[in-house]
Amino acid sequence: MKSISAGPGDPADFSMAYLEGVNLLLNERGNDAVEALLPLLETHPEMAETHLSLGRVFRKRGEFEHAIRVHENLLRHAGDAPQKQQALLELAQDYLKAGLLDRAEQAFQAVLQNKPDELTALHALAELFELQQDWVKAIQIRQRLVDLGLAEEKSVIAILYCELAESYLQQQNLQDASRALRLAYDSDPDSSRGTLLAGRLAFSAGHTEQALAIWRALLESRPESFGLVLDDFLMAVDRLDNPELQREIRLQLICSQLPRHLSPRIAEWIARQVGLEQAINYLYQQAQHTGASAEDLKSVLRIYRQSRAQAGGAHGGCQDIEDFVDLLPEQGVVYQCCQCGYRSPTHYWKCPGCRHWDTMRSQGELIHA
Ligand SMILES: [Zn+2]
Repeated sequence: MKSISAGPGDPADFSMAYLEGVNLLLNERGNDAVEALLPLLETHPEMAETHLSLGRVFRKRGEFEHAIRVHENLLRHAGDAPQKQQALLELAQDYLKAGLLDRAEQAFQAVLQNKPDELTALHALAELFELQQDWVKAIQIRQRLVDLGLAEEKSVIAILYCELAESYLQQQNLQDASRALRLAYDSDPDSSRGTLLAGRLAFSAGHTEQALAIWRALLESRPESFGLVLDDFLMAVDRLDNPELQREIRLQLICSQLPRHLSPRIAEWIARQVGLEQAINYLYQQAQHTGASAEDLKSVLRIYRQSRAQAGGAHGGCQDIEDFVDLLPEQGVVYQCCQCGYRSPTHYWKCPGCRHWDTMRSQGELIHA
């Protein structure tokens, strides 16, 4: 007997079409899978959940175009308001991952219009504004998260205010920079990035001693963060016309438990300040605790070369040794994310691996932790 109901509405045909779609998906034929599965939604609205997941699978695989097609189709055929909202949220995340930032922002804002406390949308929108370095908008969104009870967002807001202050500082706009910095401290009075910046702000305004006082407090309380400001710090000490204070600061620097990768830079500075002997002595003391590194050895050599050049440039007989030392490998990774393990020779305030704020630690810090 011939079946009267042919087409995707028929249970047997539906099963066949569904299986075919899943097979195509498993065989990495995303385009064909979408063509096979999308029409099923029109006749079987109960499949909405499956389509949500299907879109997520595409997004996870990096097949954003397919994810967007699936979720757009779902949005068009959504039966009720919660389903529509869910489809819109997924679609917004597809756009974000695909780098279609304007469309992502619009979609997230639409989600939040329906449900202002949708945490996924708020987090994603903050991420989106941070990607665009729109710090003011990112702060507004993170503030909404704080208002919803997520107190840990406060320290992120402090960092965002520091980003804002830094951008003002780059434009030499010291007034707005200090205003942003005050707001950073309001949000997190312990912000170590705030302290780094407060010193740089004082230094930029020509208040060298004030800058040094701020950074010395940081050197005392958070030596692990001090590397980020070391070059500015040494420049400020050089600028001081106060030998007594310079001596005091030098001693503090020598006695501090700083990350080891900073030792060569400090040794070369000591050599310039008070001479070769004290610089080598400092490096030797440091190496006694943790062992000497290739960077230490290169630093010793640079100090000898400089001192020899100052003494008239006579070439001694150690060129062979110098050639060997030059072949030592450069120091590798210095910073590592304590959340995801991302490693980099550069410090990032926001980890490029996991997108968490203020999770990069210098290696010395990790060894002591
Ligand atoms: Zn990370």
